[in-house]
Amino acid sequence: MSDAELVLRSTRVITPEGTRAATVTVSAGKITAVLPYDAEVPAGARLEDFGDHVLLPGLVDTHVHVNDPGRTEWEGFWTATRAAAAGGITTLVDMPLNSLPPTTTVQNLRVKQDVARDKAHIDVGFWGGALPDNVKDLRPLHDAGVFGFKAFLSPSGVDEFPHLDQDQLAQSLAEIAGFDGLLIVHAEDPHHLAAAPQHGGPRYADFLASRPRDAEDTAIATLIAQAKRLDARVHILHLSSSDALPLIRAARAEGVRVTVETCPHYLTLTAEEVPDGASEFKCCPPIREAANQDLLWQALADGTVDCVVTDHSPSTADLKTDDFATAWGGISGLQLSLSAVWTEARRRGHGLEDVVRWMSERTAALVGLDQKGAIAPGRDADFAVLAPDETFTVDPVALQHRNRVTAYAGRTLHGVVKSTWLRGERIVHDGEFTEPKGTLLARPQ
Ligand SMILES: [Zn+2]
Repeated sequence: MSDAELVLRSTRVITPEGTRAATVTVSAGKITAVLPYDAEVPAGARLEDFGDHVLLPGLVDTHVHVNDPGRTEWEGFWTATRAAAAGGITTLVDMPLNSLPPTTTVQNLRVKQDVARDKAHIDVGFWGGALPDNVKDLRPLHDAGVFGFKAFLSPSGVDEFPHLDQDQLAQSLAEIAGFDGLLIVHAEDPHHLAAAPQHGGPRYADFLASRPRDAEDTAIATLIAQAKRLDARVHILHLSSSDALPLIRAARAEGVRVTVETCPHYLTLTAEEVPDGASEFKCCPPIREAANQDLLWQALADGTVDCVVTDHSPSTADLKTDDFATAWGGISGLQLSLSAVWTEARRRGHGLEDVVRWMSERTAALVGLDQKGAIAPGRDADFAVLAPDETFTVDPVALQHRNRVTAYAGRTLHGVVKSTWLRGERIVHDGEFTEPKGTLLARPQ
């Protein structure tokens, strides 16, 4: 460890082996050793002692809509990555839609990379998109480094990103399985959505009834059947319906290669408390009842749900009208996700180690980023420093994302991020940011 440039010390370091007092040495942006707390600091190394604040691996958020270029008035790489850094996130993977162009060809991927390169405060990777007419583009996108492909089974909300019908799903999935890629799916069945009562208007109960659980359950069953038939790898995005958990468990038991994520808003907000007209709470699939939420927490605890990601999907404030049918669907959660999840996790008896597993270790594993997701020798020196017992009340003015609309306004949350570190450099400290130091990531080949 004589070449260590930086030494980080805390009485609570979260490592894969558990939480302990430790000294972490860093050289050239990598963790070189995790040593006993009282290890000697090498001559010439800079010591940062965080006392009782927790040192945890930087979070890896694999579900973010940055919308840049094309809808940069909704969000952009500069603002999204600052919000992420402020919230302890050091890696994000950008969704292929809501930007113009969508990430559905290699050429479009290059456009997005060029836009992101100088604005990224954290490391950024990209998902590709699977559309009805771009099967020929999937392999080239895979080779160009996207982490997998997103598809919708029902309308996406933007015209340039049409959904796949059953035959198109089978075709795309067969292509992706051919190179053992990963298909990530917005699973709501269009026929069940069409059959549900569509009243529109400001009542949340009407909106919830318009996106029923069986739409999710049916789409997930379809996806699992296809994955099984093709021995393909699939990932269920933003699971909301707890009714789908038994069939996911059964598929796993059979060896189907399916992973599952859920989101902070499904774990911390409930349908019962959404005020009518409050479309900052609108997302698809919707936030459901408290009893449903309890089952999602159980599924996280038992491993049926692998990970927690934000699905940060902002728009301008004017699109968040008080009519749930027509308001933009998407919740902005980047900066608050760690604190929101930690607040509810601790109330339910979970530890920060669990939160780290759901929001860093497993998300890094989902996209194959072996250099992320843990405080261990050889990994990138990406960290968040958290005061887990401090509280704050969410004030939209303090948020870094472009449009300061949030479903968490006024809530008191536990867990204040004191600083965030990317490859050994402190990128945000008490709300002060450095210049962008993020790099663009590609799927490990
Ligand atoms: Zn999304």
